Amino acid sequence: MALKTPQEYLDDLRKMKIDLYMFGEKVENYADHPIIRPSINAMAMTYKLALDPEYEDIMTATSNLTGEKVNRFTHLHQSTEDLVKKVKMQRLLGQKTGCCFQRCVGMDAFNAVFNTTFEIDEAKGTKYHERFINYMKYVQEKDLAVDGCMTDARGDRSKGPGQQPDPDSYLHVVERREDGVVVRGCKLHQTGMINSHEILVMPNNTLKEDEKEWAICFAIPLDTPGMIYVYGRQSCDTRKLEGGDIDIGNKYFGGQEVMTIFNDVFVPWERVFMDGETEFSGMLVERFAGYHRQSYGGCKVGVGDTLIGAAKAIADYQGAGKASHVKDKIIEMCHLNETLYSCGIACSAEGRKTAAGNYLIDLLLANICKQNVTRFPYEIARLAQDLAGGYFVTMPSEQDFNHPEIGPLVKKYSASRAEVPVENRQRMLRLIENLTLGCAAVGYLTESMHGAGSPQAQRIMITRLVDLEHRKQLAETLCGIRENPDIDWK
Ligand code: SF4
Ligand code: FE
Repeated sequence: MALKTPQEYLDDLRKMKIDLYMFGEKVENYADHPIIRPSINAMAMTYKLALDPEYEDIMTATSNLTGEKVNRFTHLHQSTEDLVKKVKMQRLLGQKTGCCFQRCVGMDAFNAVFNTTFEIDEAKGTKYHERFINYMKYVQEKDLAVDGCMTDARGDRSKGPGQQPDPDSYLHVVERREDGVVVRGCKLHQTGMINSHEILVMPNNTLKEDEKEWAICFAIPLDTPGMIYVYGRQSCDTRKLEGGDIDIGNKYFGGQEVMTIFNDVFVPWERVFMDGETEFSGMLVERFAGYHRQSYGGCKVGVGDTLIGAAKAIADYQGAGKASHVKDKIIEMCHLNETLYSCGIACSAEGRKTAAGNYLIDLLLANICKQNVTRFPYEIARLAQDLAGGYFVTMPSEQDFNHPEIGPLVKKYSASRAEVPVENRQRMLRLIENLTLGCAAVGYLTESMHGAGSPQAQRIMITRLVDLEHRKQLAETLCGIRENPDIDWK
């Protein structure tokens, strides 16, 4: 199989039996659950667009492992052009779904594990890279959605994995067998977990030499025995159970975050890609985080496009579209959004080939990209709320609009420009609510802050990657404190 259809993807999920809980109850047919389904629809779009000839160039690539055409979400980047296309693909999907579409975490993990395992093998004579290539061939052949999995529960933040009162606060190996390892722990806020086929687990952070049991990287199918999933709540999530389609804001799509518990889970050796190499944990974490920080320069920009569109639409609907301050605010939103995109493209264009052969983004620029992402979407959302007016948080429910007695009055007093149907205003305001306060705000705002590492994580990387001494020397040379070797003319 080269490329799966959205229907085939959905059928895969319907066959999967997993231990999933939500609102204190076990969920059986999760693929058809109204709260979960929008996130499955978003993932399905990654399959749908790959089959569309219009998007073939950015949605698909030629595998360096098999020579076959594959979904770009399973591709190992072979050039800076591939890195740029990745960002373009993510912007497109953000535009089409208006939310986090969740398949990028796996793509970013594939690329980081691929080049890190190569370097581990080179240094230590291990066989992780070969195993990982076999795994990637399987992923590409089956066109699987794989959730990259990094963030541990982390217990006491002042202590590392090895000093925690509960060693399970960070996922670790609890038993070694002839045929594999047994792991225990929990990965928190896992984006796109139960709408994936497989999980690719990485360590959470740079580890010390005596923290070998936490230096574990592996992949397992979602329905592996011992896995327990607890679905995360999102603001306004139960609106999806009300039966209407206006108050949910985004009619089709949404994200998902899942508490993922590994309750003594067996992993066979052929699926283990790092086991105890603590000195490479930092490389794996930094590279994965770097790829995902690049990703935000695409996906958040695409979602930003939908929010800018919503702000423009509501201003027009309400009769304020021609006011100069409104136009100026929309320009500001575009400026901020395109700045994020510029960062995503820049860190891609400045990428480099790794020893393993796939391409890595420029790490400094990727961190700058993500640092901006921790701020600009909030300002874009603030401006959208400014332009929407307050009705997007005080408007009566869909049921009140449809009520036989008060409905006509609710509609009469919710009218704006005569030529704009009241329902259009209602829908657009709910979309703005969804993007800036509701379910999609998880992906557009809070994830912009904390996803791929909280702001301080990028500042640490920026400190490490910027050569301040060099900059100081530039200044000292210009003002005559240092000799200027360039001036060789009189
Ligand atoms: Fe992809 Fe963005 Fe969601 Fe990460 S936050 S999975 S990059 S859409
Ligand atoms: Fe993310």
